[in-house]
Amino acid sequence: MSEYFFDYLKTLIPEERIRRNELMSKHTTFRVGGPADFFITPESTEELSALVRYLNLVDREYMIVGNGSNLLVGDHGYRGVIIRLGESFRKVEVDGNQITAGGGAMLASVAEAACASSLTGMEFAAGIPGTVGGAMVMNAGAYGSEMKDVVVSVDLMTPDGEIVRRSCEEMKFAYRRSILHRDDSSVISTVFTLKEGQQDTIRGRMNELMEMRRAKQPLNFPSAGSTFKRPEGFFAGKLIMDAGLGGYMIGGARVSEKHCGFVVNAGNATAADILDLIHEVQEKVQERFDVRLEPEVRIVGEF
Ligand SMILES: Cc1cc2nc3c(=O)[nH]c(=O)nc-3n(C[C@H](O)[C@H](O)[C@H](O)COP(=O)(O)OP(=O)(O)OC[C@H]3O[C@@H](n4cnc5c(N)ncnc54)[C@H](O)[C@@H]3O)c2cc1C
Repeated sequence: MSEYFFDYLKTLIPEERIRRNELMSKHTTFRVGGPADFFITPESTEELSALVRYLNLVDREYMIVGNGSNLLVGDHGYRGVIIRLGESFRKVEVDGNQITAGGGAMLASVAEAACASSLTGMEFAAGIPGTVGGAMVMNAGAYGSEMKDVVVSVDLMTPDGEIVRRSCEEMKFAYRRSILHRDDSSVISTVFTLKEGQQDTIRGRMNELMEMRRAKQPLNFPSAGSTFKRPEGFFAGKLIMDAGLGGYMIGGARVSEKHCGFVVNAGNATAADILDLIHEVQEKVQERFDVRLEPEVRIVGEF
């Protein structure tokens, strides 16, 4: 099956953009994760469309990833196809107050383009190390703003290989959620709307927020940012700290003492160490405060 499958894939995507047994540790900010059976980089909507249609037809598991900054992939990897949008999906174009960015563009590039054109509203996203696609799935946000505030519309590729446009409202953005949590479509591009501003002020705000991140977050260790969602009425980091878990380790995974909401790879952690630590933190916080922490990080693959 696998050889036939590979041969067919090569009719859809040039062979040099199909990798086999690609270590996901190279594609996640936790720097863990075993091999994906196939790791494919489409460079056009036509290639992406043909690929997802075929994968659905043969019922082969697949997943699209961005910068892997919200992903925990198991040590035994992923039995299926990982799709990562190629260079041609990373374009960022400014037109008046609007920016159109490809699903694979980094949020930092969108924020930079906004700043270069003296457009304000995107400063909050400059330090989020993810792509536009990942940000649409997660309704990424920081410092009181979120994607919902700046998105006009999102172009998606459905599992049938069709392109559909969804308005901001239709995306049903909510706290770290969107319609894409129950829809397997891929984000191919997003239109943002921003306001005219002063470039110095925009740059200043971006620098200020980056400084706040550096001061509060353990950016010198691999992580996936906040490991848990904010439970209603509480802060995950505070609950974890108050449960006495700051610095708690399993294998190479550690609850950051700088920011207890972050589980970090303190060196040579396995995905299993990180997952065990996530479970341990959930148990201990539940025991102590009767609050169930839900992971914000998406957990996939074989552990
Ligand atoms: C140091 C650090 C700080 C962070 N700070 C923040 C923060 O302030 N605020 C915040 O919200 N998050 C933060 N994060 C988490 C993370 O950066 C965001 O959730 C980000 O939006 C994930 O984007 P990504 O491209 O890395 O997605 P990935 O981690 O690659 O994927 C996340 C999910 O999106 C899906 N996905 C990715 N691309 C596409 C696409 N094109 N089409 C369809 N589905 C897709 C994946 O299948 C997966 O389900 C932080 C992470 C780190 C490491």
